[in-house]
Amino acid sequence: MYGFLSCVISEVFVSSKNTQILLTLALMMVRPKKRLGQHFLTDPGIAEQIAAALPANEGDTVIEIGPGTGMLTGELLKKAYHLLPVEIDPESVKYLLNKWPELEQKLIEGDFLALELRKLSNGPFHVIGNFPYNISSQIFFRILQFRDQVESVVCMLQKEVAQRLSQSPGSKEYGILSVLLQAWFDVEYLFSVKPGSFFPPPAVHSGVIRLKRNKTMALDCDENLFIQVVKGTFNQRRKMIRNSIRSVLLNLEGDFDLLEKRPEQLGVEDFVRLTQWVSGQAASRPTSHFKD
Ligand code: SAH
Repeated sequence: MYGFLSCVISEVFVSSKNTQILLTLALMMVRPKKRLGQHFLTDPGIAEQIAAALPANEGDTVIEIGPGTGMLTGELLKKAYHLLPVEIDPESVKYLLNKWPELEQKLIEGDFLALELRKLSNGPFHVIGNFPYNISSQIFFRILQFRDQVESVVCMLQKEVAQRLSQSPGSKEYGILSVLLQAWFDVEYLFSVKPGSFFPPPAVHSGVIRLKRNKTMALDCDENLFIQVVKGTFNQRRKMIRNSIRSVLLNLEGDFDLLEKRPEQLGVEDFVRLTQWVSGQAASRPTSHFKD
């Protein structure tokens, strides 16, 4: 059955532009699995737009997260990238290798979150994908760990999340990942995509964003403490910093202009200043005043 279908599929693929037939066949071979967040893109125009948004050059290493049935992969293969798709679903992997045998040495079957990215590329790389929405935050935390290698990211996410990541301070959607990503990347919201562009259609609308690594090599403060301060204050986002900072710094003394604000009012630079102040507070005491 599989052999027959893959023969048909390559015939259809080479001899016709009938994406509908191609998609039906793809979906017979890769049954969408909810637990893997599988909503396959069915609109080739959207795949083209996503691929075109990646600021990569020929020969650059591009990691695609979750190629699925390959709608976006096909567009990426048209560009001469060093493309490394990472897919967790063995059914998709089998389908993709059948369709593009040239991916044999490149397609990685596994969990992106568990991948040692430095082993894939010890130089710079780009990340692209229609992300599995249920793990998109974890993907970004992983990207942040490897931030000095990541030149750019173009990805599709749940629309609200995409908007939140690209928002500036002051909006109530602005959160932990917005600050952390904006510390090291310029984040742009590109366009929205309707549920009807996928099979099966997701319950939510989608949005595509682009992240470009900025020039910041090191923040002007202790970076681990910065991350703790951002997480600690946003975990109690309705409180003033004066109160929420106690989750990071036990004994608060003295005064500082940002203590009367709420975390969503602070930009990256403000969080850097706050972190410097917290470091100074702790350093001026005989014992550590940080919470474990
Ligand atoms: N890019 C495809 C599929 C998007 S659906 C398209 O646009 O049509 C999300 C894809 O991510 C699925 O193929 C799913 O199997 C894959 N996926 C889910 N969790 C993953 C993980 N942890 N690591 C790698 N791929 C994953």
